[in-house]
Amino acid sequence: MKIGFIGLGNMGMPMARNLIAEGHEVTGFDLIQKSDPLVQISKLLSETVSGKEVIITMLPDGSSLLEVYSSILNELQSEAILIDCSTVDVISAKKAAGMANEKGLKALDAPVSGGIGGAEDGTLTFMVGGDIAAFEKVTPLFNIMGQKAVLCGESGAGQSVKICNNMILGVSMIAVCEAFVMADNLGLDRSKMFDVVSTASGSCWAINTYCPVPNVGPNTPADNNYIPGFSADLMLKDLGLAKTAAEETNSFTPLGKEAYALYENFCSKGGKGKDFSAILNFIKDS
Ligand code: NAD
Repeated sequence: MKIGFIGLGNMGMPMARNLIAEGHEVTGFDLIQKSDPLVQISKLLSETVSGKEVIITMLPDGSSLLEVYSSILNELQSEAILIDCSTVDVISAKKAAGMANEKGLKALDAPVSGGIGGAEDGTLTFMVGGDIAAFEKVTPLFNIMGQKAVLCGESGAGQSVKICNNMILGVSMIAVCEAFVMADNLGLDRSKMFDVVSTASGSCWAINTYCPVPNVGPNTPADNNYIPGFSADLMLKDLGLAKTAAEETNSFTPLGKEAYALYENFCSKGGKGKDFSAILNFIKDS
């Protein structure tokens, strides 16, 4: 396929490379001038999208997504499908799809889980909202960039699932860290704590797969000086999106809101740029 790829950051660039490795023709664009031995990069947004069958965006937020869509929608051929893989607020995702639909174009919101490692290895999970025919047409691309793609519902459903999932992740990581800190204070051996909890009713992804304590359980960012992984800044962003969605839908999410407040505090006191599991030490020192 002829693909225009907008947003060549930590996630976008390796995703674009994986598409090229499987024989697709990709033209990339980023606000910041980038260079790459594999990805052909254009200086013009119009050149990036004109004549392309698929446009993929991997941008920081909803406002950059809407800005890009406003600039490109008139340049696209009528059969083009837009896939937005960024994590953005549900309202912007729906608005972007609506703008595309008004021009007779199909658009999918398709945020990802799996981080930079998943983008590099082509093992991302895509949570998709939008039209089933468009989803089926671009599923081969999801299968290159990822290991799983689920059509979750109409426009905005992908972003909705993503923020629900990450609200669970933020809350459960904090709970696991609180338990480890209390275990320390109770004089427990951290390995024994892991051995029991990881196979007991307290088991969850945050402890089993992403244990926040160094030298315990599988190899995680905790064993690598908390270099992300998934950064605390991105967790704060996602918890902020969850908080906004909760307010907009009048949902009672006290733990989600508290998780947002704790990550905000952590990020303002040295957590920025660290893996989100480093909140362990913030909790220990609080
Ligand atoms: P990044 O900051 O590394 O990359 C974003 C890129 O978009 C940058 O290169 C920036 O210059 C470019 N950009 C911004 N505005 C633009 C515009 N108007 N036109 C063209 N390019 C523009 O971010 P990332 O880590 O690659 O994340 C991208 C998205 O994926 C975010 O929405 C993030 O929340 C989501 N995400 C990231 C991870 C992760 O682990 N990094 C995991 C899951 C989801």
